[in-house]
Amino acid sequence: MSLAVDLHDVAKTYRGGVRALRGVSVQVGAGEIFGLLGPNGAGKSTLVKIMMTVAHATRASGTVLGESIGHKQTLAKVGYLPEHHRFPSYLTGRQVIEFFGALAGMERAARRKSAARALELVRMEDWASRRMATYSKGMQQRIGIAVAMVNDPQLIVLDEPTDGVDPVGRAEIRDMLLQMKSEGRTVFLNSHLLSEVEQVCDRVAIMVQGQVASQGTIHELTAASRRFEIVIEGEPPEWWAELGRVRRERAPGQATDAAPGASRLVLLQTEATGGQGVIDRLRSEQRVILFAATVRESLEDLFLRAVNDPLTGQARAPGAGGGK
Ligand code: ADP
Repeated sequence: MSLAVDLHDVAKTYRGGVRALRGVSVQVGAGEIFGLLGPNGAGKSTLVKIMMTVAHATRASGTVLGESIGHKQTLAKVGYLPEHHRFPSYLTGRQVIEFFGALAGMERAARRKSAARALELVRMEDWASRRMATYSKGMQQRIGIAVAMVNDPQLIVLDEPTDGVDPVGRAEIRDMLLQMKSEGRTVFLNSHLLSEVEQVCDRVAIMVQGQVASQGTIHELTAASRRFEIVIEGEPPEWWAELGRVRRERAPGQATDAAPGASRLVLLQTEATGGQGVIDRLRSEQRVILFAATVRESLEDLFLRAVNDPLTGQARAPGAGGGK
């Protein structure tokens, strides 16, 4: 796999001593959508800023689009949507995009054309002649994404692109990311929104307190948690206890539509075949089976496990743990 981003052992200590990154390695394949996940303060923006040469790493090695980090000319092939961006409110959306095209050194005709294409991608053609001040947060984000696309980048780095965007807008932004990918671009996305990342990313890294806790495809990361689950109406039979984990449903199950009071058996063996005998016995006992399937941990479970303290089950305090 050719790598669009290949970072090794990136560390950053801010003045004042905050250790934002403690040796981060991240690999992003060319042409994939990569999601960097993590709670606020994990160091996601810091990593992106280092890639974009906006911040200096205390220690770093690796490449972006095949050139060492910090290689300014490479930035011409990269698009960047910073977190908390602010564009001049008196400019129209189109003017903002063309302005950034000019900053990227594009000729007038080229940037006009490119701005038009970017406006189409973010579905803002009809609003392009209005001032930024009149836009909603979601529309401003769209213009931000268009700005990141104006120089026809190979790599697009988006820091919380759906920040402040409503669910419909978020779904549209996911479509934009997929379109970027279909055009052969690499997308690097920072997000604290799991469902977002789960739906579009080929690979993810989960970052916690300046370190990568796990990295891979969502399939790889959740594979270890595969198990067979059976949900029945009413009380669990006594013989379940020796087979696996038994739980009573307190709230209606979302995926399984189990009513409160239903019982769930989580079989420790992972294969569906292992569950068939249990199903036979339940049927012979006239039990109503509501659900039986192989399930795996969601990205959310994985994320919470990475973020929460294994001892207390509570979120680790930001900045706590891991001395200098
Ligand atoms: P994230 O993007 O995951 O929310 P950040 O990279 O913004 O995380 O921040 C990581 C840590 O670095 C946080 O503890 C944050 O307070 C700190 N930090 C970020 N920027 C600065 C800065 N300019 N000066 C000092 N500390 C900073």
